[in-house]
Amino acid sequence: MSIAEATQTVAHDPEGRNISISCDGQLVNEERATKSAEFVWTTIEEAFEYSNQHGDSIPPERSLFDFIQEKLEKTNFSDEDKRLCLDSCKLWGAYVGDPIERQSLKFFRLEECIDGNNYFVASTYQRILQHVAKTALAQADIRFKQPVIKIETPPKDEQEPSRHQVTVTTASGEIHTFDQLVITCPLGWLKRNTESFNPQLPARFLQAINNISFGRLEKIFVKFPNAFWHSESESTQTTQANNAQSTNPVFAQFLEPTYTSHPKDIQWNQECLSLANLPSPCAQPILLFYTYGPCGTNIVNQIADLDENSSEYKQILTDILKPFYSKLPGYDPSSPSCKPSSVLATRWQLDPYAGNGSYCNFQVGLVAGDKDIEVLRSGDGIGAERGIWFAGEHTAPFVALGTTTGAYWSGERAAAQVCERVGLRSVGVGSSRDDSLPSAGRK
Ligand SMILES: Cc1cc2nc3c(=O)[nH]c(=O)nc-3n(C[C@H](O)[C@H](O)[C@H](O)COP(=O)(O)OP(=O)(O)OC[C@H]3O[C@@H](n4cnc5c(N)ncnc54)[C@H](O)[C@@H]3O)c2cc1C
Repeated sequence: MSIAEATQTVAHDPEGRNISISCDGQLVNEERATKSAEFVWTTIEEAFEYSNQHGDSIPPERSLFDFIQEKLEKTNFSDEDKRLCLDSCKLWGAYVGDPIERQSLKFFRLEECIDGNNYFVASTYQRILQHVAKTALAQADIRFKQPVIKIETPPKDEQEPSRHQVTVTTASGEIHTFDQLVITCPLGWLKRNTESFNPQLPARFLQAINNISFGRLEKIFVKFPNAFWHSESESTQTTQANNAQSTNPVFAQFLEPTYTSHPKDIQWNQECLSLANLPSPCAQPILLFYTYGPCGTNIVNQIADLDENSSEYKQILTDILKPFYSKLPGYDPSSPSCKPSSVLATRWQLDPYAGNGSYCNFQVGLVAGDKDIEVLRSGDGIGAERGIWFAGEHTAPFVALGTTTGAYWSGERAAAQVCERVGLRSVGVGSSRDDSLPSAGRK
């Protein structure tokens, strides 16, 4: 937030009307939707508390979904309302990138985030990125488009045992030698490239890479000529005290649909955020869909080799999402406002440099997730031994794992580790970002 403020980045809390579309494609009655959302979020808060207090004794196979189901059984909700809650809680998948049934309850506490508002970076990360990159761009020798394929540490020089040399080989065959090396490749990249290290990474470090999962979250942006889902004009909206008073939907959840066909055995629930509600000049008539898990994989594979400008690409994504956006209020099949003008999807799962996925998550079966993260952060001793350090969201303080804030803090921590190692006065950052930060929020 402080960088956002310093760079006049627009950070917006997308509060406002949330709507829910039922499994048969109808708008869920607002009162029922609110009751179900309240149950889901209250139970998620309880699950954080339960995971914090009973983490040691919770069986690794128990999921967040199990916890919610059990809590639901203790309510006096009607069967219909129970079904609605179970369908609604699936939205957790879009927070972590995999289905809620896979979310470890034992390590659910690692998903807790910094308390406070849940901001959307409305004007994009562009200025934040410029700000954090400023020193490096001014003072470092940066080589773009040079993927590293090998990281080697030759045996120590007997004459000079305190001196480390790390050799890095790029895909084009260039070899660079360094005293200290900070590796910020995503966890997903590490998972697939452990053989790039010579000598091998320590066994416990390899275990940690293997144990922590890498999520599958993707975004699809669908742009329309106008925000047809807005019933109030922009001028009416800006005169409102805030968006919370507006009847324009900000967020829509589409529960597991029976009204459209989809691949067998894949959950096909969707959700989208309206970017038409962002403050001016960031507002655009765009619906931002989040897809995750097997559904996200299926969609990405359908467009794997297609050109973003091709009509086939647009057609496939439109065919997938039309059954959903066509259920929004204001949709009229004959209106040009309701036909997408452009569509764009991320394909992180196909990008080896994004680690073929999104960010780390904690799935059922995990036995010592907190220890695994500590090992990823510490490098299990290879910093001191080989001059190799690790940074990136998967090495962040618990409260910021999987976030841009965490990635930033992890860089500060790695920098402090290097400074300390080479005998420079520690710059005093990183060490303050420990795991004792207050945490009660959510991603
Ligand atoms: C769909 C989606 C939504 C998200 N939403 C949010 C959100 O709302 N809030 C939030 O805080 N975070 C969010 N995140 C997470 C956030 O984007 C990540 O936590 C953050 O970008 C991680 O930063 P990083 O530096 O660890 O890794 P990355 O940003 O992945 O950077 C790794 C870099 O390493 C480079 N690289 C990889 N392999 C090599 C190699 N072999 N040689 C050289 N370079 C290499 C890559 O090109 C890349 O530039 C989201 C992520 C996704 C995918």
